[in-house]
Amino acid sequence: MTKFTDLGLAEILLRALTHEGYETPTPIQAQAIPSLLKGRDLLGIAQTGTGKTAAFALPILQRLLDDRRRPVPNTTRALILAPTRELAAQIADSFRAYGQFFRPAVGVIVGGVSHGPQIEMLARGLDVLVATPGRLLDHLRSGRLKLATTEVIVLDEADHMLDLGFVVPIRQIVAKLPKIRQNLFFSATMPKEIAGLAGDMLKDPVHVSVAPAATTAERVEQHVYFVDGGGKRDLLVELLQNPDISRAIVFTRTKRGADRVAQHLDHASIGAAAIHGNKSQSQRLRALKDFRDGRTRVLVATDIAARGIDVDAVSHVVNFELPEVPEAYVHRIGRTARAGAAGRAISLCDNAERPLLRAIEKLTRQSIENTDRRTAGGARYEDPEQEVRRPRPQQHHRPQGAGAGAPRAAQHAQGRPQAATAPRGTGQPARRPQGGATRRPA
Ligand code: AMP
Repeated sequence: MTKFTDLGLAEILLRALTHEGYETPTPIQAQAIPSLLKGRDLLGIAQTGTGKTAAFALPILQRLLDDRRRPVPNTTRALILAPTRELAAQIADSFRAYGQFFRPAVGVIVGGVSHGPQIEMLARGLDVLVATPGRLLDHLRSGRLKLATTEVIVLDEADHMLDLGFVVPIRQIVAKLPKIRQNLFFSATMPKEIAGLAGDMLKDPVHVSVAPAATTAERVEQHVYFVDGGGKRDLLVELLQNPDISRAIVFTRTKRGADRVAQHLDHASIGAAAIHGNKSQSQRLRALKDFRDGRTRVLVATDIAARGIDVDAVSHVVNFELPEVPEAYVHRIGRTARAGAAGRAISLCDNAERPLLRAIEKLTRQSIENTDRRTAGGARYEDPEQEVRRPRPQQHHRPQGAGAGAPRAAQHAQGRPQAATAPRGTGQPARRPQGGATRRPA
């Protein structure tokens, strides 16, 4: 397997990657970085979650290191165009994280905020500018930014740019770049207009294509429990009592939620540690080390804190709460099933989260097997769109006390879910026996 040290990156970058908890390059990083370091153009078919940001950021940072210069006012050496403010901010954060030990000048230009600070920032000059196209054009037209000396351009999520009507602004921006430059082009899909833009921009590009997120999702055995919000913690304890769960990451939506869940597990004698942005760096590193070394079986994390956690042999991912953004689900469950191994993901979904579950199923083009663990008499969720998915109260009692064998929930955790469903990977919605209840053995 390729290692970061094989890729030709400077020690100062490798150190930052270690600091971020990255151990091995993702496929797109392993494929793209060596060619990009040679100055080749690149056409990458990849979407978020593949590690594409580091795939383009690291070679750009290496270029800055190889030829260190003070930024020249009103210029930038690298320009990254992104469709949304959020993505632009995220990309800039990644550049800052990977460049943390030499601190290049990284800036963001997006719409919806005042011009003043952006004008001041451009006046100082930048190494790396991440921008959305509209506001960038304003600054180009007013002469506050000049691209005549820009060395590298990255177009990220080009197909999303097309959806937002940015193709013409992009062409106007590209026209201001020098003829000799390095071009990087990333898109998850290749509609005709985007293929045309790529053809015009790229010279003899290296092609890199990595599996879309849905493929990750197909490798992970997934199960969802419908549960009353108040019943989640007890169900989580029940699930984690299964010794087959050798190493689990439990995801919560908030930092406080992570702390509360970790405390609850501790009270139930399940060794757990929480990591999130409010913890000090040393606390985070210790928690991660204990988890890696097997001293802590369960790590409770928020999405942000879980970034960059690359621990092998995570047997289970548990979504204590479903993420607001469906792509985050794919990121989360990708923490298990690393390197082709089979992994398991269990989600606890209360009534309010059902639309989030639907969005996840739509994105991954899968129907996730489910078990209804809501207490009888609890509020019923009526899904107007999917009659067949309407849940029913559980028909069987939970096993009582010791000697009852593995708890029912734990049986699912062992990968023997008993719910009726469509065959995996068919893309067909689950069809349940008449009445819609989960089938169980007597
Ligand atoms: P991206 O596709 O660039 O949005 O990256 C998806 C997530 O993977 C981000 O949270 C990154 O911090 C993380 N990531 C990227 N490369 C690696 C790596 N080699 N090892 C572990 N995590 C990574």
